[in-house]
Amino acid sequence: MYSLALAIHALALVTVAPVTKPSQVVVQLCERADEPSVTFAWGKNIVAGLARLQHAGYLQADKRLSVEISRDSACTKKAQGACYGEAGRVYCDKAALARLLHATGWAAMSWAHHILRTTEVSTDGRAVTRQMPGRTPFSFHDGLELADLPPGSREQAEAALRVLEDLKWDIADFFVLGQSVLDLHHYDSTPDAPANLRKRAVVLGYMVYEAAVNLLMAYVMGHELAHAFQACVITEPSWAERSGLLVDLARRQSEGKPLCPNPPYVDEVRADLCGLRVVERMDHEMVRSKLRAVPEDQGGKPLLAALSVSRRLAIDAITWLLATGLSSRKQDSWRVSELGSDGLRTLNLRVELQEGYLYSPIRTVAFSALLNHLEPYNKQSVRLCDVSARIFTLSVNASLVRCMPKGQTKFDQLDLPNLFGPFVPSGVNTGWTTGRWDDGLGKSFHCE
Ligand SMILES: [Zn+2]
Repeated sequence: MYSLALAIHALALVTVAPVTKPSQVVVQLCERADEPSVTFAWGKNIVAGLARLQHAGYLQADKRLSVEISRDSACTKKAQGACYGEAGRVYCDKAALARLLHATGWAAMSWAHHILRTTEVSTDGRAVTRQMPGRTPFSFHDGLELADLPPGSREQAEAALRVLEDLKWDIADFFVLGQSVLDLHHYDSTPDAPANLRKRAVVLGYMVYEAAVNLLMAYVMGHELAHAFQACVITEPSWAERSGLLVDLARRQSEGKPLCPNPPYVDEVRADLCGLRVVERMDHEMVRSKLRAVPEDQGGKPLLAALSVSRRLAIDAITWLLATGLSSRKQDSWRVSELGSDGLRTLNLRVELQEGYLYSPIRTVAFSALLNHLEPYNKQSVRLCDVSARIFTLSVNASLVRCMPKGQTKFDQLDLPNLFGPFVPSGVNTGWTTGRWDDGLGKSFHCE
């Protein structure tokens, strides 16, 4: 075991003995001997993300994090392909978090290139949008497709061609994009900014990436740090708590309608409430710092608009993470079954439904509804819709399948609008109540 903390000046250097309500927590990043070099490289970005996380209320409350790399198999076992918190310590699967950040990097940078390619400045100095029919930025899931494969490999080239064809990008764009992702990775993990940051796309892409990663780290680590600090360091309740949303969803999980009954542990609900508090705190900090840099009435709106993209990316990433986990490659974890007798597909999930834990669709709804609440401009797209709504619906189906008595094959989806209706596009509610899904599983999920 060796410490990375020395390299990261912003993190605490002292290792802590766990005590009741510790004031410092060690985050152990569990590393495997056969870790691919690309994952190894993005490990530094995890440390950078943790360093930023400390500024969302932890340092102000005199609570600190230190980071250790561990090659002990016990660490990997505890992390279970994600993160696990206990008094004084959090264990995280380094490769899983690195994938999360790397895929976010691809998606963020594709947004930046897309925005720059489609925006022109008119003769009177106004920014106008140039239409590029059919061309869309990469989603988080497209990013995963590329992040999972060895750089420069034939597999990656084939995956890239598939993604580019679907999204109407040309191959030259892809090489520029790939270089920008490398620049972003380097800038984020190197304290002294390289000259490459002068490129406009990297500046914009980094802004989107950093904010999305801040929100992801806030949620994932905010939950685990609540276990590790044995209390929530952030005392201000989030909207998801003030509105009673998460507690209401947890109660519905206990009652077991329409998903099967599984009363969540109090500690798990508290930890999730804490993760959501850290998300809201982080979001407020980012809005404040952007407005300090450039006030909204003096041209600060584009900075805030970058936050909208980041919120949406974070929803996509968390939906994926909670539905399928991050410990195996997309090709291995993402299996959509054939259409069933009632025309519905489901996911073959590798993530187990565990006794006492909140169901993944319930956590997904609370996270996405909070970001939708915090979003000032694009509420219609900063929510569960498009890819995230599709994954969400499939993961709800997977939860229903596990509740059904053996031999029963027809889902009972009629109660789903009561539980999740306000948080998904109307096409999904129509599908649940009438059994009609537009265009297979496509148009029903559109953002409205
Ligand atoms: Zn937990």
